[in-house]
Amino acid sequence: MVIVMDVNATEEQILGITDLLSSLNLGYHISKGEERIVIGVIGDKKRLQDKPIEIMDGVEKVIPIVESYKLASRTFKPEPTIIQIDDIKIGDQNIVVMAGPCAVESREQLFESAIAVKNAGAQFLRGGAFKPRTSPYSFQGLEEEGLKMLFEAKQMTGLKIVTEVMDVHAIELVSKYADILQIGARNMQNFSLLKEIGKTKKPVLLKRGISATIEEWLNAAEYILSEGNKNVMLCERGIRTFETYTRNTLDLSAIPAIKKLSHLPVIVDPSHGTGLWKLVPSMAKASIAAGADGLIIEVHPDPKNALSDGAQSLTPGNFEILCKDLKIIANAVGRDFI
Ligand code: PEP
Ligand code: MN
Repeated sequence: MVIVMDVNATEEQILGITDLLSSLNLGYHISKGEERIVIGVIGDKKRLQDKPIEIMDGVEKVIPIVESYKLASRTFKPEPTIIQIDDIKIGDQNIVVMAGPCAVESREQLFESAIAVKNAGAQFLRGGAFKPRTSPYSFQGLEEEGLKMLFEAKQMTGLKIVTEVMDVHAIELVSKYADILQIGARNMQNFSLLKEIGKTKKPVLLKRGISATIEEWLNAAEYILSEGNKNVMLCERGIRTFETYTRNTLDLSAIPAIKKLSHLPVIVDPSHGTGLWKLVPSMAKASIAAGADGLIIEVHPDPKNALSDGAQSLTPGNFEILCKDLKIIANAVGRDFI
């Protein structure tokens, strides 16, 4: 439940509520809005059964949270979550861009990609070292060697690193090299992975499951949040529908839906969302127009010879053109694009 305080509630009245919650072993989150303070209650609300909070001084009303997730909900925390990674803020006024190859293939391929995306305006370098491939015979990634290359690329360019962690045993290793841990679509409901990542403080990019509803996706985020890690961003990457022309159907409506239901930042992946590089620029621009906080885009110096996802990868030249267009769209919807 959330306790909405009166516009004129005093510090003492707020303290009266938080002291009561603490005495009942309940946690709370205070949101300071422009007009009023909202207190989200964490824990078993049955403990408040015989406590008439509604009539306590300074309280305007008590609202139950009807959603199955709580910490991820906008009712619980009305103000947007802003994830800070050094000098970069995700979920704030500025649009963030993460770009790079699907998989780290070699030092040359990665460094060429890193320099290109950095020059075009990206703040993060993406690249998988552990690859969740549909076929076990496809390239599985360079593993720790790939992570080390990502780290070298970071030192060379200043780009931050986003890369996937596929299982619980690799969390510590990947965390040594990454600034953001990516949870892939296929792992969105790997609850033991979600819980373990929830015990770290690392920012997390939680991709939407291939057939996940918005509610299932927000509950997956709740698993991470409920373990204490508040640095979660949601990544729309397309869902499976009856359409076969595209690899997935990018659900643009999920962007405003998530913005309404949750306070977490939304990142869109138009590369996996379409599977076709020619569609990527339009979907990237549409995502920013629809309110996304950032993009994650596959860029490869030689898409035709890529070891994975070449068909959906932009060349550095096309990525540079896209970034120029994105700035115009971002500014048109009142966002900054550096
Ligand atoms: C990826 O980012 O390369 C990837 C495998 O993404 P997804 O989990 O969305 O398929
Ligand atoms: Mn990929």
